[in-house]
Amino acid sequence: MTVVWGMLRVSALLGVLLLIACGDDGRVAPSDVPTADMGPVPSADGGDTGEGDAFVPTSPLVDPACVDGMYSEVLPAVDADISDLTWAGDVGAYVDAFLDRRYPVGAALVRGGRTNTDYGQDCDVLYAGSPSSAGDVIDRMNTIVHECGHFYDGELSTFTDNTYVVTPTQQISCSRGDATDRGGDTFARSRINDDEYAALRPACPSGSSGPDCDFYADTYLDGDPDNGNFEGGDQGFNMLIEEAFQYVNSLATSWSVLDQSPPGRSTTARDGILTFLWYVERYLRMARLDFPGAYERLSGDACWRDAILTLWGRAWLYLEATTGMDGLSIHGDALETLVLDTDLLAEIERIRAAHGC
Ligand SMILES: [Zn+2]
Repeated sequence: MTVVWGMLRVSALLGVLLLIACGDDGRVAPSDVPTADMGPVPSADGGDTGEGDAFVPTSPLVDPACVDGMYSEVLPAVDADISDLTWAGDVGAYVDAFLDRRYPVGAALVRGGRTNTDYGQDCDVLYAGSPSSAGDVIDRMNTIVHECGHFYDGELSTFTDNTYVVTPTQQISCSRGDATDRGGDTFARSRINDDEYAALRPACPSGSSGPDCDFYADTYLDGDPDNGNFEGGDQGFNMLIEEAFQYVNSLATSWSVLDQSPPGRSTTARDGILTFLWYVERYLRMARLDFPGAYERLSGDACWRDAILTLWGRAWLYLEATTGMDGLSIHGDALETLVLDTDLLAEIERIRAAHGC
């Protein structure tokens, strides 16, 4: 399938490194050219935060008349000057100053993440490593925003309800999204290891990566949901989509720091979200075919449909904005081919149809 990429700018008020990002259990594990059609178009309602131009995705992979195609967001100011920001040894101050200029959505997620005090340290400090320079912090910015996004969502979520802070002005809170044996209506995300798609990109051996294997599966689709022991892969759809939302933030952050990265260095910024879009499609297919209760929860519940379509729209907004950019992809082309499988795309269309689109 050939995809013609484009991006439309919409007028609106208001205003993505190395292989790092983490699993839900706290383990650290692996964690791009805008083209034509950049003319301004009217916007029904605005994007996220601050002042700036909001963009809607115009990829043929979104439906302009549905939630995904109507998603809009002010994209990162990737050219904003940060040359006057100096490193004074304060992680939080540097992160805030950098993200306020380059990626205000990420800045808000970090500030929100700091409201989660469950781990004894601010999320940004916790994931900054031991920086001794601004460059060290910039190298970790992707991980910081991704993990602080988890912290923020975790702070706002309850046992039964998951909250996803998409942007500072859009939160989605949905119920009963965990696996059935964990109090919800869905199934362990690791069960998609058993579908007919898994063999197309089998899990890489632990700790390794390669062009033909799934670098993320060992972290996110791990364990045996039937062995009675908790493993990250036991978590349901609620935490699958939580990861997906944060991998959009990883791409956005990596894009925001791209000009600060050493020439020639490539990261998995696009690989991560493409992998998770593939997982979400496969999960929906398995739910529809094998787990009717889960499918009823996800396709019959307007909140989960909204979450799925919002994720899809936001992901393609960033994927099209970063198409072909050097340094933001390692195996992205192969992953994109998997995501664009006709039968898997039909799962997203079914969600749109259920949503009345
Ligand atoms: Zn994560």
